[in-house]
Amino acid sequence: MLDVLEKPITYVKGVGPKRAELYKKLGIVTAFDLLCHYPRSYVDYSVQIPIKDAPRDEVCVVRAKLVRKLAPAFVRKGLTVFKAVLTDGSDDLTLIIYNAEYQFRSLCENREYILCGKINGNLVRREISSPLIIPADSPDLIQPSYHLTEGLSQNMLRQNIHTVLDSIGSQIYEPLPREIMNRYSLCALDFALENIHFPRDPHSFEIAKRRLVFDELLTLRLGMNLLRVRELKATGCRMAQQSIRDYYASLPFELTGCQKRAIEDCCTDMCRGYPMNRLIQGDVGSGKTAVAAGAAYFAAQNGYQTALMAPTEILAAQHFETLSGFLEPLGVKVALLTGSLTPKKKAALKEAIKQGEYAVTVGTHALVQQSTEFARLGLVITDEQHRFGVGQRETLASKGENPHKLVMSATPIPRTLAMMIYGDLDLSVLDELPKGRQKIETYAVTGKLRERAFGFIRDRLSEGRQAYIVCPMIEENDLELQSVTEYADRLRKTSFKDWRVGLLHGKMPAADKESVMKRFKDHELDLLVSTTVVEVGVDVPNAAVMLIENADRFGLSQLHQLRGRVGRGQYKSCCILVTDNVTEDSVKRLKILSKVSDGFKISEEDLKLRGPGDFFGSRQHGLPKLRIADMSSDTELLRSAQAAADSITSKDPALTAPEHAGLRELADRLFARGTEA
Ligand code: ADP
Ligand code: MG
Repeated sequence: MLDVLEKPITYVKGVGPKRAELYKKLGIVTAFDLLCHYPRSYVDYSVQIPIKDAPRDEVCVVRAKLVRKLAPAFVRKGLTVFKAVLTDGSDDLTLIIYNAEYQFRSLCENREYILCGKINGNLVRREISSPLIIPADSPDLIQPSYHLTEGLSQNMLRQNIHTVLDSIGSQIYEPLPREIMNRYSLCALDFALENIHFPRDPHSFEIAKRRLVFDELLTLRLGMNLLRVRELKATGCRMAQQSIRDYYASLPFELTGCQKRAIEDCCTDMCRGYPMNRLIQGDVGSGKTAVAAGAAYFAAQNGYQTALMAPTEILAAQHFETLSGFLEPLGVKVALLTGSLTPKKKAALKEAIKQGEYAVTVGTHALVQQSTEFARLGLVITDEQHRFGVGQRETLASKGENPHKLVMSATPIPRTLAMMIYGDLDLSVLDELPKGRQKIETYAVTGKLRERAFGFIRDRLSEGRQAYIVCPMIEENDLELQSVTEYADRLRKTSFKDWRVGLLHGKMPAADKESVMKRFKDHELDLLVSTTVVEVGVDVPNAAVMLIENADRFGLSQLHQLRGRVGRGQYKSCCILVTDNVTEDSVKRLKILSKVSDGFKISEEDLKLRGPGDFFGSRQHGLPKLRIADMSSDTELLRSAQAAADSITSKDPALTAPEHAGLRELADRLFARGTEA
């Protein structure tokens, strides 16, 4: 569609093989890629102030006439200082340029220039050093500033992009149907590309940006819809409506309304004839496992097997206990398949699963996915504590005849975001906690109170409880690792010398991690010092206190996840957030946690305070990388783009109509670009 633009970047006049190599480092291979390399920021020369009003030490823009150039001063070898005097009528200004002789020579006396930089000096003589300078009659008063790599300069990018826009810009094909452009008042793509790089004026820039953000969100949604359409075309095992009242009745508690609704959503999905693709999103402790068990029970009633996959052996064992507790009394057999079984037992168990003797198999991903055969696999459940990508979701279903899929996620994500991230999944939200859940008392304190907090923890340990201390390890590097290890050693020797202290971090071999976690679970350890690896949903009901060091280094949602590790039993639990970074902002953030216990509300706050980075930064969701859209601020556009995409999909699900060829290509391109940084 964008033929000319698909040409390699060397096709652009002024770009040779050497520069093409540099562009490649920025992921720019074709002329179109270059146009999609949007500016990171802009220098706006259009808003000028009088020199006499220029505030000190702040970047500002002035317009002044160059009165005279002074003789260059050769300070030493390699340092020549060029100076000139300018005036705008309000005051004089001395321009200082270091070494850039070429630039200095291009300036003419008696011409007007616009300068952008910091104005310093004293009251007698104001000075501006190495500012950005453009002639006052320049047509582009708003100049783009790009993300660069060594060897490329702003000017090179500006020039090359200019060339592309001038030579082939008008041949840019319009991928959006006219009707959508009209309905959402969107400008044409060529106008948008031109004005995102070289805005004619602030208004044109806004219009251009709106169009490009819209395109990106639309494309993302269309891509998600394509994934879903592929699913709908597949045939899945059609189950028949069955009563699950027996399941409800056998539970030791009454399910919440939203748990029941989620189970019923699953049952309906599994009766439709195409594979279910559903996400259960629920706050920590909302009872996702009981929902999973309900769906598994329904599948079993229909004569189908269920596989439940957990990220670690411990979690698998924990799910096995819960599921067999719920289901075995109803005659539904549950197997636990783990690496720690003897080869003989493992083989026997696999054979039994293959023969269909077990209705439910619980295990780690590796084990269940790779080498296990099922007699009649109907449902695959993944307990993914938010580490899951679109691509992985797709490959998951390679077992059995397109089994139904249920994903459990514990990351509460604001609805607007969830719609985008999980656009290819149906969503059931557990937004109500089971009755009688105790609030986790949360306190924020400074390091001065650390010893007192330790005393408080020791008191709880004396009562027979257990505790966590979480240390942030932002990067899993050796330095951070060393400090966590030393921290644990220090506690062992000082404040907790009479207690059994364990250490858990991400760099440990998986088997060691499992064994430490198991010892903590079995109460062979009283205190667990851990990095955030403990975040993953392990249930230790006896753990009643958590202390989090440097709490300000975490996002609110993550802190909320972490504290969800306590308060899982009958004991009153609390979470102590320690921070020495007592800024207004950090205090405000941590206060939210002491007041609010609803994970969804917290994630909304997080989104407002920190932007979507926490959700997208690590790209755990496998969402394609966005160039210009910003999920937190573009809510209105997000809705419009979703509606537009869905209306296109409803008419042309696979985007095969000729008028959608451009969109199809954009969607493929976005998803092909993948999730790498
Ligand atoms: P999560 O959603 O964090 O995975 P779990 O499924 O582990 O939560 O459930 C947490 C605890 O709550 C478990 O001990 C579970 O048995 C219990 N539970 C689940 N649903 C209910 C309910 N409706 N009423 C009371 N307790 C419940
Ligand atoms: Mg769980």
